Amino acid sequence: MKIHEYQARQLLAEAGVPVPPAEVASSVDEALAAYGRIGGRVVVKAQVFAGGRGKAGFVRLCDNADQVREAAAFMLTHRMVSRQTGPAGVAVHKLLLAAAMDIAAEYYVGMTIDRGRRCPVMMASREGGVEIEEVAARNPEAIVKEWLHPHLGLQPFQIRRLTQALGLTAKEHVQAAARTLAGLASLFLRYDATLAEINPLVRTTDGRLLALDAKVTFDDNGLFRHAAITAMTDTSEENPDEIRARAAGLSYIALDGNIGCLVNGAGLAMATMDLIKLHGGEPANFLDVGGSVTAEGAIEAFRIILADPKVKGVLVNIFGGIAKCDLIAEALIAAAREVGFHVPVVVRLEGTNVERARQLLNDAQVSGLLTAEDLTDAAQKVCAAV
Ligand code: GDP
Ligand code: MN
Repeated sequence: MKIHEYQARQLLAEAGVPVPPAEVASSVDEALAAYGRIGGRVVVKAQVFAGGRGKAGFVRLCDNADQVREAAAFMLTHRMVSRQTGPAGVAVHKLLLAAAMDIAAEYYVGMTIDRGRRCPVMMASREGGVEIEEVAARNPEAIVKEWLHPHLGLQPFQIRRLTQALGLTAKEHVQAAARTLAGLASLFLRYDATLAEINPLVRTTDGRLLALDAKVTFDDNGLFRHAAITAMTDTSEENPDEIRARAAGLSYIALDGNIGCLVNGAGLAMATMDLIKLHGGEPANFLDVGGSVTAEGAIEAFRIILADPKVKGVLVNIFGGIAKCDLIAEALIAAAREVGFHVPVVVRLEGTNVERARQLLNDAQVSGLLTAEDLTDAAQKVCAAV
């Protein structure tokens, strides 16, 4: 799960990391009101999940209300396209206004999981700012790493090494860096984060060390124990069908092809997509209805697939183990009655209660329904039909 910069700044501040004062605005008027309270020189920043905002023109320094109005109006009415968004870009719904700092140096500090070493790793570089990806590619030695013991956490000697790597020597900078690194590590571990970055961490011309940008991503599997993080969810940049599927307990990922897939089991769903591609088709989605799927969940799955205008055919592939073939057959019949099959639906059922399922489908005489002998036959039939 991703959160916005303004939420990440709040978590950092709670963890004891110095962050400049800031406010959130959802309209030009709110931005102007916030500017009235902050005043002076501010930075206006689009709150979207993608990075690369600075280079895309969605981080702007403003010295007066007119500039704030212009920047806010631009960002709220233009999609932001950066190297992290793809060509379609993303719409901006919220802005952050922060008191601008006079920057003497920009640093990078970040934390993630090193899967090879199976532990968290903290990284620091004195070449922070908007080019950190290029630093990582061109000059990886400029990023210093310290691996954390899973139970001992970030140790004082590691903080000293990382602070030295940043080239900080003045006593107040060393202390502020120690607070920042320790705060970042505690936030990362406490909330089951998968990524926590401050880029840039800046030294200001008046000698302070502050976090000016923050990005935090959480492990979805840990969210059940962090209600405060879950409450930060913003689904405005997500695919609406994926949100709808999640609410019904379905694992659904929208794809670019035209063959809708309804399958039980993630592995079988992957194999089904492979077979569709093997026979010349392109899947429109990944969908695992899961073993404990209810009739209502299965009908919702059909609704989501059939409402996708790209879908020109559907492949239903059920290997009934815990999931029952007859429950899927009933859902198929109910979905056919409710929305109608305007495209061919090829069905391959095997396993628990398959005889009853076949009987139900036979009796219902659903138009547009094709039955398949086996999975290859099903993939061939749906590709031919499409
Ligand atoms: P990103 O491009 O999405 O990572 O957005 P950032 O928040 O990191 O902003 C990009 C760049 O804008 C930073 O690296 C800074 O150089 C600049 N910037 C951000 N905030 C300030 C500020 O308060 N003062 C000044 N002078 N520059 C800033
Ligand atoms: Mn940044």
